[in-house]
Amino acid sequence: MAALNTKSDREVRFETSKGIKVVGSFDKMGLKEDLLRGIYAYNFERPSAIQQRAIMPITSGRDVIAQAQSGTGKTGTLGISILQRIDTALRETQALVVSPTRELATQTQGVIAALGDYMNVQCHACIGGTKMGDDIRKLEHGVHVVSGTPGRVYDMLKRRVLRARNMKMLVLDEADQLLDRGFKDQIYDIYRHLPPSTQVVLLSATLPHDVLELTQKFMKEPLRILVKRDELTLEGISQFFVNVEKEDWKFETLCDLYDSLTITQAVIFCNTRAKVDWLTRQMEAANFTVAAMHGEMLQKERDAIMTRFRQGASRVLITTDIWARGIDVQQVSLVINYDMCVNRENYIHRIGRSGRFGRKGVAINFVTADDVKLLRDIEQYYGTQIDEMPVNVTELL
Ligand code: ADP
Repeated sequence: MAALNTKSDREVRFETSKGIKVVGSFDKMGLKEDLLRGIYAYNFERPSAIQQRAIMPITSGRDVIAQAQSGTGKTGTLGISILQRIDTALRETQALVVSPTRELATQTQGVIAALGDYMNVQCHACIGGTKMGDDIRKLEHGVHVVSGTPGRVYDMLKRRVLRARNMKMLVLDEADQLLDRGFKDQIYDIYRHLPPSTQVVLLSATLPHDVLELTQKFMKEPLRILVKRDELTLEGISQFFVNVEKEDWKFETLCDLYDSLTITQAVIFCNTRAKVDWLTRQMEAANFTVAAMHGEMLQKERDAIMTRFRQGASRVLITTDIWARGIDVQQVSLVINYDMCVNRENYIHRIGRSGRFGRKGVAINFVTADDVKLLRDIEQYYGTQIDEMPVNVTELL
């Protein structure tokens, strides 16, 4: 971590990933034997592009900013790097991953635990909505890695239950969201509780320029692995729009599409919690089976819904942007923006819930007359094409 950088903002230019060393095999990364075993047992055979570029610099201890398209292995990148960096003989927290949602923090905890299965790693999910007592017991006993959400993590640091003395790494997953207004102050609060020498790693599919500028305040000569905006949309994900013209016509359009939704699994995004509740009631009244999740539900209920959806027991999930980022359910092949996404970054994340790791995906945007401009803006911003939905859309799933 560095002291405040004095460079003027205008001088700052960011380079894309030219000249970054590429390591094409996990065997050649100098990883610990028991970690390698975990990686192969988890069925990773070859590292993905971001894993080939980011794991070695991160394990060398350097500050790294790692951008890569959705579903291309960033969680694997952070998990493998952390496991390589920690010493499991020392029962103290050495790496902290912060994520914007509880579900993502829990998912990441699971990935780290699985990859580190042969290392006896203790990785704890430290998230809001759970009993403080459980966190305190676990943390006081000592865990190697904590994967959490900002509020609870800060709370545990403040109470000194989460001991930061031996912390080596701070990883901000979905970094642009964590450094955005809603979370930024909390992230700085967390950062201030860590030793000054702590390595900082940032990951996201989207890293707008203002976020990159901000990183100069707390990162030391980071290696930047960046993706150009027009290379951010994945070829495997076909994007379409349906011209619904008026809000009132969205519901019927969705009902017409229901059979396509259940071919594999689908996620439907609304812009508010109230709309999720409303749409769920409407769908159920019309005898369609759907699940719903948003941030106002009890954590227990959220957990149960996630479990059922991950198992494939429910196939259609209506949700908010709480689900936009990071969540990995490989069977999702269709994303519907029932409400057009008003945030350019989250658009990329929403459609990226399908098409995981090279799979095919379809994204369908319901567009009212008022939304046409939003859609065109997104097309232009990412240099991508969003066509009118064809009649044979199910063939693409
Ligand atoms: P991201 O964080 O970039 O959105 P994830 O790390 O969640 O992507 O990876 C997406 C999916 O691809 C996950 O299901 C993950 O298990 C799988 N995956 C990641 N890396 C590899 C790899 N090297 N080989 C095979 N599958 C992988």
